Amino acid sequence: MKQNIIVIGAGLSGLMAAWQLNQAGHRVKLLEARDRVGGRAWTQADSGAASCEMGPSWFWQGQPVVASLLSHFGIGYFEQYANGIVLFQQPDGNVGEAPIDSPMKGSLRVDGGISKLANAIAQELDPADLLYNHAVTTITQKDGVVHVSGTNKDGPFTLRAERVALAIPPRLAGEITIEPALPTAAVHALHNTPTWMAGHAKFFALYDQPFWRAKGVCGTTISRRGPLAEIHDASPNSAEVGALFGFVGIDAARRAAAGKDAVIEAALDQLGQIYGDEARHPTKTYLQDWTQEPFTAGAADQAPQTHHPNYGLNLDLGADWQDRLAFISSETSFTNGGLIEGALESGIRFAQRIAALDLPASDETTIEHKASMDWDWFQG
Ligand SMILES: Cc1cc2nc3c(=O)[nH]c(=O)nc-3n(C[C@H](O)[C@H](O)[C@H](O)COP(=O)(O)OP(=O)(O)OC[C@H]3O[C@@H](n4cnc5c(N)ncnc54)[C@H](O)[C@@H]3O)c2cc1C
Repeated sequence: MKQNIIVIGAGLSGLMAAWQLNQAGHRVKLLEARDRVGGRAWTQADSGAASCEMGPSWFWQGQPVVASLLSHFGIGYFEQYANGIVLFQQPDGNVGEAPIDSPMKGSLRVDGGISKLANAIAQELDPADLLYNHAVTTITQKDGVVHVSGTNKDGPFTLRAERVALAIPPRLAGEITIEPALPTAAVHALHNTPTWMAGHAKFFALYDQPFWRAKGVCGTTISRRGPLAEIHDASPNSAEVGALFGFVGIDAARRAAAGKDAVIEAALDQLGQIYGDEARHPTKTYLQDWTQEPFTAGAADQAPQTHHPNYGLNLDLGADWQDRLAFISSETSFTNGGLIEGALESGIRFAQRIAALDLPASDETTIEHKASMDWDWFQG
């Protein structure tokens, strides 16, 4: 039952799929456009003990896959710091107490950052099967042989296999050239599925210590003034350094027009108004704008989402592609769609679907890696 399977995208869904397929004895190539794994799940590598989460910060009780994986790999997790007062900033800049608990109270954070989990799964793969800097642009199929093409550092490449899974956001998957073409309804569904949080930007300010805790505030502020709309304590569990992060509340076009330096300056000024002068003098700052990441956000993702959509895709791919092509990013999952948990579930489900097909074994040599197109073998 060994199959040659190409998984496109080494975010958590693609990593999970590749690992599980590998465990089941299939030959998998995992193609990743970036020079790192994790996709949206990305901890800033040079942020030291603060382990700044540029993408997801939290997971929640009742999400067993992520919790069991963390425990499998011996990675700890801890509760979001929520002891103390929540603040509210009025449109005129005035700051007062909000009579609520932090909305993120009880949320769970990964000790050392979510990249630890992505890297741990990647370590389970043979390094030769994980191809970085491979951006896929085209998928074609004839007589049951699938060709996946794109560019890497050396130029064009083509791989072939029996099956392929697109573990990239549906909107980006909708931009890939697929021949024979998918049914129109499937293409529309891909384009109409927003990429969770792709329109957002996160700002981090690091400090020698979480000094706001001593003032009795937990770090959470809801602001109607901005530029940060919602701020939280992002310090490590050890509290050996302090960190605050905020979701930037101005949209992508205005962020771009203002420029990165102006957004950072305004964010630090706001932190100073809320937490006192000390907050104006961080040891480091980071601003991560996901709309500027072509392997996360498409043109339609430039506007931030205001609510969590009802995710899940059940696409009719037509007779040509049924069981040959699958879409498995987090957004395709009916449960926990858009979230870390949904990405991991999706990867597992894909591996389970392949197992259920109970396919005949394929020949050992069908995966190839070339720096230039060579279709001759196929004509014959
Ligand atoms: C700012 C932000 C905050 C978030 N907060 C949370 C949170 O607190 N909790 C939570 O559960 N979730 C959160 N999320 C969502 C979570 O990050 C995602 O659900 C999850 O990481 C998606 O994983 P994925 O593998 O499905 O997709 P991705 O992580 O998007 O992975 C796709 C991979 O495919 C690669 N790729 C793209 N195009 C190509 C191509 N053409 N060829 C080859 N490779 C390609 C990309 O580089 C990427 O590595 C947040 C996301 C963001 C951006």
